[in-house]
Amino acid sequence: MSSRVLVIEDEVQIRRILKNALADEDCHVTEAGTVRDGLRMVGTTNPDLILLDLGLPDGDGIGFIEEVRGWSDVPILILSARFDEKDKIAGLNAGADDYLTKPFGIGELIARIRVLLRRKSRAEDEISPLVQFGDCSVDFSTRKVMRGTKDIHLTPIEYKLLTVMLSRPDKVMTQTHILKTVWGDSYADSAHYLRIYMSHLRQKLEENPSQPKHFLTEIGVGYRFKQ
Ligand code: CA
Repeated sequence: MSSRVLVIEDEVQIRRILKNALADEDCHVTEAGTVRDGLRMVGTTNPDLILLDLGLPDGDGIGFIEEVRGWSDVPILILSARFDEKDKIAGLNAGADDYLTKPFGIGELIARIRVLLRRKSRAEDEISPLVQFGDCSVDFSTRKVMRGTKDIHLTPIEYKLLTVMLSRPDKVMTQTHILKTVWGDSYADSAHYLRIYMSHLRQKLEENPSQPKHFLTEIGVGYRFKQ
């Protein structure tokens, strides 16, 4: 079944490139050039994925994300020409799922899109209490974490961090979001806690903690769990 993708971008040329690339992926593309049209079309076309430019003529993409997140979990991929990391982070904090900085390669774009669409269809299936990655398995119904045949003991904070990371595979999570979720609002700036506990998780669950395959650092932004 083809996926519905909404492209919100004011540059016609970029819209055309995206449309052509997505047509090859069996996606049905609708387009908007402003925040206002974009919001209207989310309601009318019920997209499976939104590609969003942050700099739009009638407003900011961040405001768009905040508004959409009030009523929809549709995956949002930011396409940003801005060099400022702060915009990307603000977008992710507002609830976007991923970002690409312009100019980007079509191959990379398509790969990210496939991940987001796959995740959406997986999320729509039944949520499994058992998550496996590498030689590890986590059973949320019993809070049991295994590595091969060995029980792994996690402290309550480590377990909480693990559940937050595993809750959205492939999604970039900002440091602020993770800190607030695991430790609470007043810890939003305590990045050193996160670094320490992330290294604990890597020590316990990664085959090679110094070259992690599952708990990945997104430099300057946060972390991403890869299954
Ligand atoms: Ca723009």
